[in-house]
Amino acid sequence: MKHTFPVTSGNVLRCRGWRQEGLLRLLENVLSVGEDPDNLVVYAALGRAARDWPSHDKIVETLKTLETGQTLLVQSGKPIGVLRTHAKAPIVIMANCNIVGQWARAEKFYELAEKNLICWGGLTAGDWQYIGSQGVIQGTYEIFMRIAARHFGGDLAGRFVLTAGLGGMGGAQPLAGTMAKAAILCVEADETRIDKRMAIGFLDTKTNSLEEALAMIRKAQSEKRRLSVGLVGNAADIYPEIVKRGVVPDVVTDQTSAHDLVYGYIPSGRSLDEVRQMRKGDPKVLMEESTRSIVRHVGAMLEFQKKGAVVFDNGNLIRTQAKNGGVTNSFDIPIFTDAFLRPLFARAIGPFRWVALSNNPDDIRKIDDLLLEKFGSNQIVSNWVQLARKHVPFEGLPARIAWLGHGERTELGLEVNRMVRDGTLSAPIAFTRDHLDAGAMAHPNIMTENMRDGSDAIADWPLLNAMVNCASQADLVAIHSGGGGYAGYMTSAGVTLIADGSEAADERLSLTLTNDTSTGVMRYADAGYEDALDEAKRKSINHFRLPQ
Ligand code: NAD
Repeated sequence: MKHTFPVTSGNVLRCRGWRQEGLLRLLENVLSVGEDPDNLVVYAALGRAARDWPSHDKIVETLKTLETGQTLLVQSGKPIGVLRTHAKAPIVIMANCNIVGQWARAEKFYELAEKNLICWGGLTAGDWQYIGSQGVIQGTYEIFMRIAARHFGGDLAGRFVLTAGLGGMGGAQPLAGTMAKAAILCVEADETRIDKRMAIGFLDTKTNSLEEALAMIRKAQSEKRRLSVGLVGNAADIYPEIVKRGVVPDVVTDQTSAHDLVYGYIPSGRSLDEVRQMRKGDPKVLMEESTRSIVRHVGAMLEFQKKGAVVFDNGNLIRTQAKNGGVTNSFDIPIFTDAFLRPLFARAIGPFRWVALSNNPDDIRKIDDLLLEKFGSNQIVSNWVQLARKHVPFEGLPARIAWLGHGERTELGLEVNRMVRDGTLSAPIAFTRDHLDAGAMAHPNIMTENMRDGSDAIADWPLLNAMVNCASQADLVAIHSGGGGYAGYMTSAGVTLIADGSEAADERLSLTLTNDTSTGVMRYADAGYEDALDEAKRKSINHFRLPQ
């Protein structure tokens, strides 16, 4: 059966309240902007919105009939049942893809998925928080700007950025690159992904020829002109070829789905059709071939680093895969969190976002105005909102992301709830955030690599975070662990709130948004980060300092 993926607009409810309707619209939204919605895949190769179509349909049916005081349970994308709770309890709680430690391996995940016992929710796919490629765009932009400030005098004008992967998340790279004024080359094995990014205005142009791509980049560099080029090709071939030609980009990274050797990464020498067939028939061979390609891919990244390029891992486990393939020094490449973003996370500043459930872009514009009025003196926020307004097109339900911290999120949430109440906004707003947020993720090769106290692999923090958000009356709370190639590598927590204008929503927003970031500051304060200790003191967060 072919499915359609509309987003719902306006004020007519299909559910018994806006909390349920809001979550239903978010579920529809992740599919409408997802990469392969017919298979319920939202992004990152296997990140699914629901286990299967019967599960999806039952979730939809349940959200439509769910009463206040009831809570829907979801286990790895499958609705399990409805419990009687109370009016202040979350209306959906989820646990997605949590496999017991010794069993948490990619092969075991595939086996369980084959039996339809489990599915992977990615971070924001399974809990319906994904907002399209713009979800990571500010993070990518902030990384580029931090590199620019540290190495290139403030922006990336005249600089060459090389990357790969234009999928659900990686698709944000070309736009983030041009927003930072760079000439950015994005290598992508699947031409349809390139076309999709061009169609939504995230990518300027494409070519099949490396020669032509490099010429375009060179010209843009010499004119200090922003440009993004999509090159159809395999990064495991193209990166070494660029090394061979003696060309050294200024900045190099990668956002192919290298975390998953079967369903994500495309090995060199294989067509997309061949890879699709091998996924079922020859997964072992595919894993070996992907590993061999990643070894070359990362080998070239290390060569670029030796020649002076700023090289970083953008959160796709590529260094880990290369190390498993024998590249003993792959961790010479730093991870973006440790290299660029930790000072922000230590203050619980992270990727907060909101979605206009009306499907009316004016609602987002009005919140942009509010943000500039309230946080105009916050350089990161005001700079970002002005840029995003100008450059970031909406996909699916209009949404905005902005890196806000403790107190700021609560202030915005309450003000927006007031604007819903007094009719300034045309319908309720959903608030959510990435799982890659201060208190919400344990991911020792990405988010928590090199924590000051060595607590990289401790997953208590996201579990505490999820429980805190349940206790604080969030509308949806989810605990996710890694699936596919991420199995055994991470645990994280997600949260969503519907600002429906009610006084009950004031309470939910105030408690959840405040406590969510409090756990973030506490996590970093506990690890000994001065920024977090300072933030806790300045903002009166009741964190205990005991001797270790
Ligand atoms: P995706 O599966 O939607 O897209 C990956 C893209 O890489 C696909 O278009 C695929 O064709 C392409 N690709 C695969 N192998 C290739 C190769 N050898 N050469 C060229 N192109 C190749 O995944 P996504 O959602 O874009 O995520 C990409 C990666 O980034 C994942 O590993 C994901 O977990 C990670 N990620 C990081 C962050 C972060 O905060 N930094 C956020 C989200 C996702």
